[in-house]
Amino acid sequence: MADTRNHIDIDSAVYKTLLESTKAIPWKIDWNSLTFSYIGPQIESLLGWSPSSWVSIEDWASRMHPEDRDWVVDFCVAQSKAGTDHEADYRALTKSGEYVWIRDVVHVVRNEAGEVDSLIGFMFDISERKATEQQLIILQKELEELSFKDSLTGISNRRRFDLILEEEWSHAQRNQQPLSLIMIDIDYFKQYNDHYGHIQGDNCLKQVAQVLGLAATRSRDFIARFGGEEFVLVLPETSEESAKKVAERCRELIFKEQIPHQKSQVSQLLTISMGVGTIIPARGDEQVGFVESVDRLLYSAKQNGRNRLVTVAKKS
Ligand code: GH3
Ligand code: MG
Ligand code: MG
Repeated sequence: MADTRNHIDIDSAVYKTLLESTKAIPWKIDWNSLTFSYIGPQIESLLGWSPSSWVSIEDWASRMHPEDRDWVVDFCVAQSKAGTDHEADYRALTKSGEYVWIRDVVHVVRNEAGEVDSLIGFMFDISERKATEQQLIILQKELEELSFKDSLTGISNRRRFDLILEEEWSHAQRNQQPLSLIMIDIDYFKQYNDHYGHIQGDNCLKQVAQVLGLAATRSRDFIARFGGEEFVLVLPETSEESAKKVAERCRELIFKEQIPHQKSQVSQLLTISMGVGTIIPARGDEQVGFVESVDRLLYSAKQNGRNRLVTVAKKS
C-alpha cells in the first residue's frame, strides 16, 4: 500500500524541482503578516539578493525603482485587497545597483471563508522585451521624423506643410490674426538642370533650401519644400508688410549666394519669383482657396518678368 503522505511528499518535491528550475521566479506572501513564506532561489541569480533577504513586502517595495514604487505598491495592494488576480511591470533593483525590468504575475488565494489568505506569483525577467520595446519606440520616432522630411534638402516636406498650415489656419481664424504665406519658385530651373546637370541641380536646391531657412526668424515661422523647385514659407501672426519684408530678404539672401545661372533669361545669377499673400481667415474661408490665391500671385510674378514678388493680384 502506498503511503499517502509519502505520495504527497514526492509530488511536492517534484513541484519544487520544477518551480526552481524554471526561469520564472515563484514566490508566496502570507497576507496576514505581509511576509514572504517562499521565494525561489533563482531570485539570487537574477537580482543578487539571497532568498533569505526577502522577508516582508517592504523588502519587495524598497527594491523597486523609485519612479515605479508608488503606483506598483498601491495597485498591487488594492488588487489583492479586492481579491483580483493581477500583474505589474516594474524595474527591480539589483544588489549591484542596477535595474531589471520584471513582470510580476499575482494570483490571490482565498481560504475556505473566502478571505484573502495569501498571494502567490511569478516574477518574469522582461528586460529583453522592454529593450526591444524601447528600440521600437525610438525607431517609430525616427520614422515619423523621416516621413515629414524632404529627403533631398532635409527641410520639411509637403506633408508637414499641410499639417502646419492647418494648425496655423485654425489659430489665425480663432484669434483673428493675420497669417501670411510666401510661395517661392526658382526661375528657369529647367534650363539650369539642362545646362549644369541634374546633380548640380540637386545641390542647388539644397543650397536654396538652407538659405531660405534663414529668411524667417520667428519661432513659429515655417519653411517647407512644396515640390520640385518650389518652396513655401508660413508666417503666423504676420502682416502683409512684414511678409513682404521677409520675401525681400529671401531674394537678397539668394542673390548674395551668387549662384551662376548662364541660361537664365533674367539674370546671370540664380533668381526666384514669389507670391506673397496675407489673410485673416473669416468663417467659411477655406485654406485651400488661400493657397491657390497665393499660387496665382506667384504666377503673376512669373508673368511680370520673374525675379520679383507680387503681393496683390492684378485686376484683369
Ligand atoms: P519658371 O521660371 O517658369 O519657373 O521655369 P522653370 O524652368 O523653373 O519651371 P518648370 O516648372 O518648367 O521646371 C521646373 C524644373 O525643376 C523641372 C525639373 O527639371 C526641375 N526639378 C524639379 N525637381 C527637381 C529635383 O528634385 N532635382 C533637380 N535637379 N531638378 C528638379
Ligand atoms: Mg515650378
Ligand atoms: Mg521654376
